[in-house]
Amino acid sequence: MGHSRRDFIRFIVASSALGAIPKLSESAEPISTIDSEDFSILHRLRDGEGFPAPSRQEQHNLVIVGGGISGLTAAYRTGEGDVLLLEKERQLGGNSRSSVFRDATCSIGAAYVYRDTVEGKMAAELGLDLSTINSWDGTVDNGVHVTDTWGDGLKSLPYRREAIQQFADCREKLAAIEVSPVHDDIPLSNLIEPYGPEVNRWWLAFCRSTWGGAPTEIAASLPIEELKTWTQPDRNDVRTTWSGGVGALAQKLSERVRARRGVRVADGATVLSVSNHPTHVEVLYWRDGLVTRVTAKAAIVATPQLVTSRIVADLPKQQVNAMRQFRYNPYCVVNLVFDRPVKRLGYDTWFPGRAFTDVVAADWMDRDRPSAGRPKHQIMTCYVPLTPEFRSELLTIEGCRGLATRVLDQFQRSLPDYQVDPVEVHLYRRGHAIHTSMPGLRPLQMAARAPFGRVAFANTDISSMSSSTEGAINAANRALAEVDPFI
Ligand SMILES: Cc1cc2nc3c(=O)[nH]c(=O)nc-3n(C[C@H](O)[C@H](O)[C@H](O)COP(=O)(O)OP(=O)(O)OC[C@H]3O[C@@H](n4cnc5c(N)ncnc54)[C@H](O)[C@@H]3O)c2cc1C
Repeated sequence: MGHSRRDFIRFIVASSALGAIPKLSESAEPISTIDSEDFSILHRLRDGEGFPAPSRQEQHNLVIVGGGISGLTAAYRTGEGDVLLLEKERQLGGNSRSSVFRDATCSIGAAYVYRDTVEGKMAAELGLDLSTINSWDGTVDNGVHVTDTWGDGLKSLPYRREAIQQFADCREKLAAIEVSPVHDDIPLSNLIEPYGPEVNRWWLAFCRSTWGGAPTEIAASLPIEELKTWTQPDRNDVRTTWSGGVGALAQKLSERVRARRGVRVADGATVLSVSNHPTHVEVLYWRDGLVTRVTAKAAIVATPQLVTSRIVADLPKQQVNAMRQFRYNPYCVVNLVFDRPVKRLGYDTWFPGRAFTDVVAADWMDRDRPSAGRPKHQIMTCYVPLTPEFRSELLTIEGCRGLATRVLDQFQRSLPDYQVDPVEVHLYRRGHAIHTSMPGLRPLQMAARAPFGRVAFANTDISSMSSSTEGAINAANRALAEVDPFI
């Protein structure tokens, strides 16, 4: 695709969130969008701007702040109590959301969950079908696609013989490690440095996409465990997904929560403060230009610590310090929509050294459906984790457009099968996505999640080393137990 063809990819900014991006439509027939979560009110709060005095009052038993998987799980599990769930976005789901472009559904965040875990069980309880993905991740490099990178495909990786041997050595050495708490405190780079540039480049892509940082920033325990799963003799790919990825789970949870008697959901409602009192909590939230004061017996704050540390008043200094040490990087998801079948390489395929790290076939679970029932359009979901320097680039239309163009360009150059034009390109950006799974994170999580009076804390970032659906659900269950004596 030449430049003139690429210039044809026109953009309309669908919402202005990370910063103050004006609405812009360059085309009468927009074929592409830039969209994002809305941090505008939180940025005003961070910058110390004043808000009007509360003009409305409400009273509830329990307030839940944040409608991601964690907050939704807490609301779902509270039973019939009088609960208010406050979410700053118009859509619930947080990092687990889906979108529909043309007739096809895709994820704009989390992709899959594991079958026999807390999240798999909850999905089954909610009536979601649990078919497994059954496709070990492949790799595309040097114009070649190899399936099952760390299994049977390893010997066919498109590298020189020494590099392939380094992959084999890395696999053998890492998978043999007995994981201990020490591995939570050392970076992966300590273990993979000897294995040469190809191995390091592969792990760079995987770590940035999965754990929010480079191998120098990621605790070694996570990749070791992952490698064990990929290489054990009786291995099974027990990941499961749905049309729209984990957004389907969030959607189902949202439906149940909204239908529940006694639970009120306010979307587009940004919480400005949560304060503890001996007999109650007080929560102030902003919605449609008005501030409401809510009193409740207890609160669960299910927002990332980046936000929690700013909205919960009078937290002990040590707890705030712990919360502020969490790191989050910007992250985009670029969905390429095609009006004809594009070769699916496997469910999730890694592209080391590219602007995007991996590509998920959004219609993977439809692969065995008769073609008559399948959507006409096919979507390739490109994951684009970024380093912090990119945050400002994401604030401009030009920056986002440049990124989407780079992703599309490199996607099309990666394989002969991919030299096909999408009919739409959609970019979803997050300024502070998954927390970095950094060495030394566990003690910070313990300090950050200590209940504070009538306030308990949820969110995956204080619960599991890696950002995961499982962590979000576990955090919610723990927080519910902590507020139970008060409600
Ligand atoms: C690109 C990407 C891919 C991923 N892939 C996977 C995957 O394949 N499998 C997996 O298990 N996990 C994956 N994850 C991680 C997973 O999405 C998260 O761990 C999970 O969604 C976290 O849920 P949560 O409720 O803890 O937090 P969040 O999703 O962060 O939810 C927090 C919510 O709080 C809201 N909020 C924030 N501040 C306020 C405020 N002041 N007032 C009101 N509301 C507020 C936010 O808008 C948000 O909705 C991925 C994440 C990303 C970004």
